[in-house]
Amino acid sequence: MATQTLMDKLVSLCKRRGFVFQSSEVYGGLGSVWDYGPLGVELKRNVKDRWWRAMVQARDDIEGLDAAILMHPKVWEASGHVAGFTDPLVDCRTCKARFRADKLPDAQCPQKPSKHPGEHSTCDLTEPRLFNLMFKTFMGPVEDSAAVIYLRPETAQGIYVNYLNVLNSSRQKIPFGIAQIGKAFRNEITPGNFIFRTREFEQMEMQFFVKPGQDDEWFERWRGLRMAWHYDLGLTRDKLRWHQHGPTELAHYARAAYDIEYEFPFGWQEIEGIHNRTDFDLKRHQEYSGKKLEYFEQASGERFLPYIIETSAGADRVTLTVLADAYHEEEVEGETRVVMRFHPVVAPIKAAVLPLVNKDRMPEMATELYNDLRKHFTCFFDDSGAIGRRYRRMDEVGTPFCVTIDGQSAEDGQATVRHRDTMVQERIAIGQVLGYLQERL
Ligand code: ATP
Repeated sequence: MATQTLMDKLVSLCKRRGFVFQSSEVYGGLGSVWDYGPLGVELKRNVKDRWWRAMVQARDDIEGLDAAILMHPKVWEASGHVAGFTDPLVDCRTCKARFRADKLPDAQCPQKPSKHPGEHSTCDLTEPRLFNLMFKTFMGPVEDSAAVIYLRPETAQGIYVNYLNVLNSSRQKIPFGIAQIGKAFRNEITPGNFIFRTREFEQMEMQFFVKPGQDDEWFERWRGLRMAWHYDLGLTRDKLRWHQHGPTELAHYARAAYDIEYEFPFGWQEIEGIHNRTDFDLKRHQEYSGKKLEYFEQASGERFLPYIIETSAGADRVTLTVLADAYHEEEVEGETRVVMRFHPVVAPIKAAVLPLVNKDRMPEMATELYNDLRKHFTCFFDDSGAIGRRYRRMDEVGTPFCVTIDGQSAEDGQATVRHRDTMVQERIAIGQVLGYLQERL
């Protein structure tokens, strides 16, 4: 499948079936801002729930946090964002287009070759100038420079400035971590590729505080755990790889950094970063706030500023990864069957209950089963249209199981369970359907 058509098909499926809509569509849309529809919100929630479960609830050494989006403006001076959270922006005077200089292949205008083959050299690029990506707004009624505050460009800083609060209110000792999921905002120069790069997005970040000297070991441990988490989402392993940041790519705060990359239809791209941020952030907050942020280690009697290992993933990016990885087309009986092969844990609907026809007690039996199943997981009831069409509709939104009540069900007390990927059908006693599905979900 050609690259662009695959993304086009995915975007169109997302809209048609209620995964993702363009923001403010009735007004012509807002550039690179997207809304999650009924199925999208379930899908993204499942991704976030799985992350929260693995990172917070299943571990004794990580606490959760939900810090506010608005923070004291000094936070962003201390973090280095006011001075340095910039991307180099270039304009093409010929094409009147704007780009991020560090993403331009061969420092050439990418518009030209496709528009006018052979005229590449006539493009006239400006020198790069630095553009700060933080969104600014004003706190209170007076719009002067003293009232400027920012929409956070990352969730991490909310964790750093709270680390002693969390430490003192929980029974944690170093090494320990703080995790949060929340919105972040970046005024990206070239957003795009659907929900891959947007100006408003959600991050799932965990900051792990360790004793200096133990950072390398924890860095490696977290690399392993994070890649395993993506594997467990059911993503194609060959489409995941590591990218190590070379010296010129390393952020100002980082001592070591690896990205987990996924092979999207538009190429290999970062979905998560794992960084050794050293004591950079705590040192800066200590300096700018004038408050001591050291940790006292009882066992050794030492005081130190912890080092921080960060794992930072985009909830929207992981959701796009899950969508792109799930999309499959196959020819079945002369028709194209589109199947979203979601791992059952992220599938927005786990099972559909379908009465074959609306008579002979089938709707009643199906409703009873539906009401029973929906107490345990998300279900969908569909009693209209040809059964084949109903199956296809469920394939397209990635529902792993369809349970059909047919004419025989009233006689033998059995239903047909159809598997999404193989289309294999099995007869199962109605009383056992719940257990059967639970085992497989
Ligand atoms: P890039 O180089 O792609 O701009 P980055 O290296 O600045 O990304 P980080 O600051 O490390 O990204 O952010 C951590 C994670 O947050 C990324 O791996 C990504 O999943 C997510 N993320 C960052 N920027 C965006 C965005 N504009 N839209 C959606 N997700 C984003």
